[in-house]
Amino acid sequence: MSLSEIQSRIHSEEKRANRPEGSTQLIAVSKIQPIDRVISVLEEGHRLFGENRVQEAAGKWPELKDRFENVSVHLLGPLQSNKVRQAFGLFDAIHSVDRPKLATTIARIAQEEGHCPEVFLQINTGEEPQKAGVLPARADNFINECKALDLPVAGLMCIPPADEEPSLHFMLLRKIAERNGISGLSMGMSGDFERAVALGATHVRVGSAIFGVRQYD
Ligand SMILES: *Cc1c(COP(=O)(O)O)cnc(C)c1O
Repeated sequence: MSLSEIQSRIHSEEKRANRPEGSTQLIAVSKIQPIDRVISVLEEGHRLFGENRVQEAAGKWPELKDRFENVSVHLLGPLQSNKVRQAFGLFDAIHSVDRPKLATTIARIAQEEGHCPEVFLQINTGEEPQKAGVLPARADNFINECKALDLPVAGLMCIPPADEEPSLHFMLLRKIAERNGISGLSMGMSGDFERAVALGATHVRVGSAIFGVRQYD
């Protein structure tokens, strides 16, 4: 699918859901993708990207940011506490804040650095043991802890179980956000971004539909 096709599908879902056009941001997930594909998306004018790993982003984005203006990169994958400072230099937002210890580390480094990327709190809506994120029952508590740390909480994020209807998870995430006065919703990937937009996503994270299948080798 071309970038413009995805963008226009997002716009028609926004319209259908009576949401203002442009209320959903498209994060082009460039992890693992060959650099020439990433460059062509930059040349088409797209400026918002997502990466899964600090190391991979560090090897790619400083140079691309020199070449292209106003690029913004969001971290979507797991973050170790000892990589937080490096992450501050690379990312404008972190979507994977998934535990109190990480939140505390981010708050401390924000004090030291004098700035902080926006944070999204990851909720394990499917309660999957192997997946990151706080359990739904713990979400309100965790959100309050992060607010008490003065973190710039921009939203919540979820990755629904692969074998379940994603809409139920998107609705649960939205419900948790609404009752906590949080406006951002990072939800929806290549296979389900339209449903996510219909249910209020402010950020969809689309990789393979834009760039093609990732070749892990
Ligand atoms: C890889 C990844 C995506 C993009 O997945 P696609 O199915 O390629 O669109 C979105 N979010 C997260 C957290 C990811 O790790």
